Amino acid sequence: MSEQLERVKTLIVGSGPAGYTAAIYAARADLKPVLYTGMEPGGQLTTTTEVDNFPGYPEGIDGPTMMMQLQQQAERFGTEVRIGMITAVDLSDEVGGIHKVTVDDSKIVEAETVIISTGASAKYLNIPSEQRLRGGGVSACAVCDGFFYKGQEVAIVGGGDTAAEEASYLANICKKVTMLVRKDEMRASKAMQHRVNSLENIEVRYNTEVDEVIGDQVVEGLRMVNNQTGEKEEIAITGLFIAIGHKPNTDIFKGQLEMDETGYLITEPKSTKTSKPGVFASGDAQDKIYRQAITAAGTGCMAALDAERYFATVESKETLVS
Ligand code: NDP
Repeated sequence: MSEQLERVKTLIVGSGPAGYTAAIYAARADLKPVLYTGMEPGGQLTTTTEVDNFPGYPEGIDGPTMMMQLQQQAERFGTEVRIGMITAVDLSDEVGGIHKVTVDDSKIVEAETVIISTGASAKYLNIPSEQRLRGGGVSACAVCDGFFYKGQEVAIVGGGDTAAEEASYLANICKKVTMLVRKDEMRASKAMQHRVNSLENIEVRYNTEVDEVIGDQVVEGLRMVNNQTGEKEEIAITGLFIAIGHKPNTDIFKGQLEMDETGYLITEPKSTKTSKPGVFASGDAQDKIYRQAITAAGTGCMAALDAERYFATVESKETLVS
């Protein structure tokens, strides 16, 4: 590995709403942010078509355009946006310590503060027909895309709290929701199960999985299979929602930062502080409950403000020592 050292004041990892909002605030506070985009510049929203629920866009906006505008806004205040993937980190335990970050397995960047906005990725079933129809009726976010299926028949896969919550959300908009649960019971909390069962237009199919998503360009139906009897059945739907969990993109921080059993970074309450001084976490990498662009942007703002306060603490400590 060729080591080429560079020192930056604020390093932001990730280019979703959290990363760019952190960059806007950090740049305006003169924290001289350098932002690495990661493998999917713009993050999860670039895989969405229309974003209708981000405040300030009365006519809605398509995800890629919104992310380009967020980037331009961050750059307008001096953020340096770089294409690159952080592949390893060596985070300091000391207040005022320097964090070492490896970019693309080749270059080392030293950072005084690090803001993590690496996001999360929705899990998919990974069957060919589902992958082919992503964006053509297959979605992993009912709150983002449910509205497009107003008055139509849809299906949702999963039996956890997310699936139950999204099924209830869809039931308010859609004519009928078929919910596929692979076991003979749901993992969701009793309260959420009760809510699902109380809605007349949700039909829960237990022991049921997706056999194939039907449709050429767009979803037209679903072939389900009962995993106990092997019996297959087709239903006509226009939308299929996958709600089988998310995976936070935090593998590179394992062993360095505190995280929960599923890999979400743990931050102090009402703060973006992680378990290491000068390292802050924002967006879906630390949020498994809300997972919205607007909440990610909110915590990105918090991370930049927390970083600014951290610099003030470090400076006052240095003044006391000298
Ligand atoms: P979970 O991991 O809790 O549930 C995932 C669900 O998807 C399970 O029912 C699982 O089935 C099913 N599943 C997984 N893989 C497949 C597959 N290949 N095919 C079919 N089904 C599959 O994820 P959630 O996103 O629901 O929740 C994550 C966390 O967030 C949980 O702790 C949850 O409580 C929390 N949460 C809380 C909310 C709230 O408090 N309002 C709202 C949303 C989430 P199986 O049970 O068989 O493994």
